[in-house]
Amino acid sequence: MDARLEAIRDTVLARNPGEAEFHQAVVEVFESLGPVHDRHPEFLDAAILERLCEPERQIIFRVPWTDDAGRVRINRGFRVEFNSALGPYKGGLRFHPSVYLGIVKFLGFEQIFKNALTGMPIGGGKGGSDFDPRGRSDAEVMRFCQSFMTELYRHIGEYTDVPAGDIGVGAREIGYLFGQYKRITNRYESGVLTGKGISWGGSLVRPEATGFGTVIFTQEMLKTRGTSFDGQRVVVSGSGNVAINAIAKAQSLGATVVACSDSSGYIMDEAGIDVGLLREVKEVERGRLKDYAVRRPGVSYVDGGSVWDVDATVALPCATQNELDGGAAARLVRGGLLAVGEGANMPSTRDAVAVFQEAGVLFGPGKAANAGGVATSALEMQQNASRDSWSFEHTEERLTDIMVGIHHRCAATADEYGEPGNYVLGANIGGFVKVAEAMLAQGLI
Ligand code: NDP
Repeated sequence: MDARLEAIRDTVLARNPGEAEFHQAVVEVFESLGPVHDRHPEFLDAAILERLCEPERQIIFRVPWTDDAGRVRINRGFRVEFNSALGPYKGGLRFHPSVYLGIVKFLGFEQIFKNALTGMPIGGGKGGSDFDPRGRSDAEVMRFCQSFMTELYRHIGEYTDVPAGDIGVGAREIGYLFGQYKRITNRYESGVLTGKGISWGGSLVRPEATGFGTVIFTQEMLKTRGTSFDGQRVVVSGSGNVAINAIAKAQSLGATVVACSDSSGYIMDEAGIDVGLLREVKEVERGRLKDYAVRRPGVSYVDGGSVWDVDATVALPCATQNELDGGAAARLVRGGLLAVGEGANMPSTRDAVAVFQEAGVLFGPGKAANAGGVATSALEMQQNASRDSWSFEHTEERLTDIMVGIHHRCAATADEYGEPGNYVLGANIGGFVKVAEAMLAQGLI
């Protein structure tokens, strides 16, 4: 790493102790940015990097609620409003027991660059709670969401900060959150949250957008090698919103997705995953992946196994951060891997990324490959602002254009900086320069 950037990095790490995921995200971006600072010394003079690494605002709050047995429960809520140079803070809410400030900050930091890459006017933010919705009744989830919003409402707004979903936060949770916001503020402010239901301000394609977008980005990478998804053998991790829609899109393009996972294990379905059945089990019944295996003949369920043990030509990690390490990456490369498109945020460890890049595997980092979700959230905001709703076809066309554009921006930036095919460098520099120029123009704030 560039010595000037090393000194800034050391200060950032020391100022934010114990936040391993945030450190990882910062280091990964800094490793790309040396050449930019050679061309733009004005960014160093204006302390752009130091400012970028310090969130504009961090909110941590108590979330008290009662469970169905009447017992009082306490969780912790977070919203990190990281950077508003390009627009209102925008980024999801994650409800998962692993959530703490370091996770929220890593996600918020990544979101700044991702949102810049989309070309839409949105800043970066992220939030969530260590609340675990799994196994909770609808009534418990509603009481939790209402309590969470009872604090969060004062910090958000369609021109200020616009949260959406992430792990553990889907249409049900967004509904409860929106209802409470509306009740407290007495405003039907559609643009304050995205991922809303289609009948009350949501956008068609938003539920599919992250998974679809990941596949579209990966398809663009494959095209640079004269190939496509058609005929590829694909492995996907996770079986939530991003994973299911990535599976659907990859198969619609002629691939066979032979395996996917949850945090308990994975399924092998050599015939290609039945997306209808998967949606039924996971989205309608809120069941576990092993229930899918029970219902479909010829499918095996590997309890506790790693989905990365399965050979594939394309891997789409769509579960969570650091789920794919250097050992798993090396094994996938030995199995004939051609491309990786990250549907999740930072699912590959730094070791894994190095293995992929050294082996010449096409590697699309999450901040570029999974940007379709937030981009379609911005399309939802556009529809809300104009009191309009677009057709599925029109919205999907916009998503496709945006993903092709992000791929082009990353590839062209990598070329410009002398590292063709390095999408990590292309995404980091492409996103950074846009934000840095806006920050410079807006003065020292
Ligand atoms: P969901 O909650 O819908 O699904 C998450 C999936 O990942 C589940 O299958 C879950 O399994 C699995 N998972 C979660 N945590 C772990 C873990 N610690 N170990 C193993 N498996 C785990 O979330 P999404 O699909 O929305 O999000 C998945 C990823 O995509 C996240 O990294 C998220 O940040 C990223 N992302 C999401 C966007 C969106 O629009 N939703 C936008 C951009 C990125 P289990 O049910 O067993 O917990």
